[in-house]
Amino acid sequence: EDIYFQVIRGKTAALFAAHLELLDDPILFKITCSHLSQGKTAEYAWYDAIQSQTKRLQATENPLLRERADDLKEIGQQVLKWLQGIDELLEPWPKPCILITESLTPSEADQLDPELVAGLVTTEGSATSHTALLASSKGILALAAAPKQILSIPNGQSLILDGIKGEIHLQASEQQRLDLLEQQQKHQREHQQAKQDAPLKAVTSDGHPIQVLANIGNASDAFNALQLGAEGVGLLRSEFLYLDQYSEPDEEQQAQVYVEIAEMLGTDKVLIIRTLDAGGDKPLHYMPISTEKNPALGERGIRIGLHHPAMLRRQVRAILRASLHAQVKIMLPMIATLAELRAVKKLIQEEADRLGVIHYELGIMVEVPSAALLASHFAAEVDFLSIGTNDLTQYTLAMDRGHPDFSWQVDALDPAILKLIEITVQGVKQQGKKVAVCGDSASDPIALPLLLGLGITELSCSVSMLPQIKQYIRKLSLSKCQQLAQQALDQPDASAVRSLLCNTPLTAS
Ligand code: PEP
Ligand code: MG
Repeated sequence: EDIYFQVIRGKTAALFAAHLELLDDPILFKITCSHLSQGKTAEYAWYDAIQSQTKRLQATENPLLRERADDLKEIGQQVLKWLQGIDELLEPWPKPCILITESLTPSEADQLDPELVAGLVTTEGSATSHTALLASSKGILALAAAPKQILSIPNGQSLILDGIKGEIHLQASEQQRLDLLEQQQKHQREHQQAKQDAPLKAVTSDGHPIQVLANIGNASDAFNALQLGAEGVGLLRSEFLYLDQYSEPDEEQQAQVYVEIAEMLGTDKVLIIRTLDAGGDKPLHYMPISTEKNPALGERGIRIGLHHPAMLRRQVRAILRASLHAQVKIMLPMIATLAELRAVKKLIQEEADRLGVIHYELGIMVEVPSAALLASHFAAEVDFLSIGTNDLTQYTLAMDRGHPDFSWQVDALDPAILKLIEITVQGVKQQGKKVAVCGDSASDPIALPLLLGLGITELSCSVSMLPQIKQYIRKLSLSKCQQLAQQALDQPDASAVRSLLCNTPLTAS
């Protein structure tokens, strides 16, 4: 680590003597070194350090410090170019462009501007990795686990991304290009219609209402979700609110954001706030988790809160305070055992007593097979459950959802997952409680008939998919979905389920 940093300092000292002081910032040093010690490249480490420091300076009240942010950015860019061996400015690229890279962190994906980037292709990750989820929530088409050769494509080459088939066309013929363009226009027309119908309820063709809520990561997602017909928020991924913050937001700051979102939704729409779910592929700067052999099986989800109860208490208090304003509910991520649930329930009750909050609702995510198998026991102790098919699939198949080589097999249509959903629905019904699906399956039109057929009546999907999902529900008949789901449960593997779905016409068009 030291060597990299010395080299940067030595070079920049010569280049930018006047600004040496700015580069002498111990926080820049700390962030850079921490990335380097995690095996990140010098370019990445430096870029991230500069980004976070400029943001910090820009956020201050002091105009002098805010000016320094511009200087720092400028110097940071020059050092970065030197690190990359770039002497001259690149030609300005056409906007929007397709960004091709090995990987991006969720916080980098969160900073992408859809005006500049229309598509993102990574050679790592998967469709349900948090990076892809964040990019798609901004309307950026994200394709993951692309072959490494894609990295050698020269700047400026034209590419076609087919988001429906998950294909990249490097050298499309004129005919292919025209066919794809026609398909794209057809989808745009359908999408436009679905957007117009978005405020209407989603009722199946045989008269069964399905509630469609949104998965959001911040207040602007909430605003967009409302425009696109969301009937509430089924999942606020609270960790996404603070992706690039270097210190934990205090109770007041958290309560402010929750109240802001709750007020935007109004008193007739529910806001389910999930407590911090960091770790695994969601690193948080202010939540250093020591290197673990199996991060996905280590300190993540609710285990972080149990390990740092003071932090969990601050968040719980902020949520409880917001719950006084609207229909705000608490949801716990990655619950695996009743003991974990009971420990958190006790902590929440203590905080509710301290705040004098008498009524609040608590739910859990079903993301670990044990929670699905014992759903009736969990349902007896909470108000609602929500199935996170992304993690439920990775933990059932024991395959990392972000692993570049295996993630394509992490298929939520595997009959094992469908059986776990069926068991969960039955268990929850026994207790007279509610269960939703908020994993990515809820945003996948292919999975949708099966979820309905398995008895799911509430979905929480990604903001950009809200209109299409509602529209598709209106075309489906619940009784046909039920028959199909029963057949799907008998299939031996995910590909058999997919062929069954392909060969069973469910809608007229
Ligand atoms: C899930 O695991 O399905 C889920 C909704 O949570 P996340 O994608 O944030 O892990
Ligand atoms: Mg999850």
